[in-house]
Amino acid sequence: MTISTNDVFSATHTAQLLLNDYSSGNLSHAYMLIGNTGAGKRTLSRAFAQLIMCEAPHGTTPCGECSSCRYFDSFGEHPNMTVVSLGNKASIKVDDIREMSDGIYTAPYIGTKKIYIIENAEKMTPQAQNALLKILEEPPEYVVFFLLTANRYAMLQTVMSRCRTLCMSLYSESALRNIALSSAPELSAAQTDILIHRSQGLPGKLISLLNSDEEERNGIFSAVTALLNNDIETIFSAAEKIDSRETALSFVNSINEIMRDASVYMVCRDDKMVFNADKTAVLEGIAEKATLKQIVNFLSESMQTVKMLSGNVSYQLSVKNLLMKW
Ligand SMILES: [Zn+2]
Repeated sequence: MTISTNDVFSATHTAQLLLNDYSSGNLSHAYMLIGNTGAGKRTLSRAFAQLIMCEAPHGTTPCGECSSCRYFDSFGEHPNMTVVSLGNKASIKVDDIREMSDGIYTAPYIGTKKIYIIENAEKMTPQAQNALLKILEEPPEYVVFFLLTANRYAMLQTVMSRCRTLCMSLYSESALRNIALSSAPELSAAQTDILIHRSQGLPGKLISLLNSDEEERNGIFSAVTALLNNDIETIFSAAEKIDSRETALSFVNSINEIMRDASVYMVCRDDKMVFNADKTAVLEGIAEKATLKQIVNFLSESMQTVKMLSGNVSYQLSVKNLLMKW
């Protein structure tokens, strides 16, 4: 689904800070957007790139008609916008930065700006960050960089000091509701409320919740029940479906969410405090069978697994190892 640039701009305080820079003519050459996976860094950087490159903006709204806007609206990209993404690689290397910056010193031939977006910027090796630093030290005046990262601590201080760093604020509830209503109008008000609550202010998480089917979710709950019953066969067959980093992370994160809920439920028995408020019967079952210590240990093991999954490991094996530690 696509969210209009105006909706993106009105959803967070972070966007307002960018718009202030734009309106006051104080655009930075490099922005670092810091926020969790699903926080909307990618969407915001693209919406802002469209505004910066628009030839006839109405205030802070891209016109939607100029050749630049047509590129964005039709293709979601632009000849003057270069995106570096991690894909299935374990890191972004110095050669990736060299390839990205090829032609950076040639002025743009459409519009007045060139945009460079580096996704998963924390995955740049130190050498890659140093190569980028060279450019950031004396950037051509028409260049605007966006470094998107979920982990500022993996960034070299020297690189950070060249960027205007902005932490992504959470999406407002009304912005999340707009996304839910436009992409799944068939949901009841109660179902929408639960999804908004589960998304924790993260639009990317909301969209993946809207796209994930209930059957998949029930599958995760069954896997957790199997875990409690030491039913190794069922647990492993659930893990057999993992075939990529994304599916592995989503599997682990979903189990974590349930475990986190179960631990909260153990302590306060309050539907309003849990994300999966429609599944309190299952949470109650976990609360009866597991101990708080067991859940806390599992959550700490799973944090290690999430870390490992960002490297070159067997996705399925890593998840199975984690499940064996219950
Ligand atoms: Zn335009």
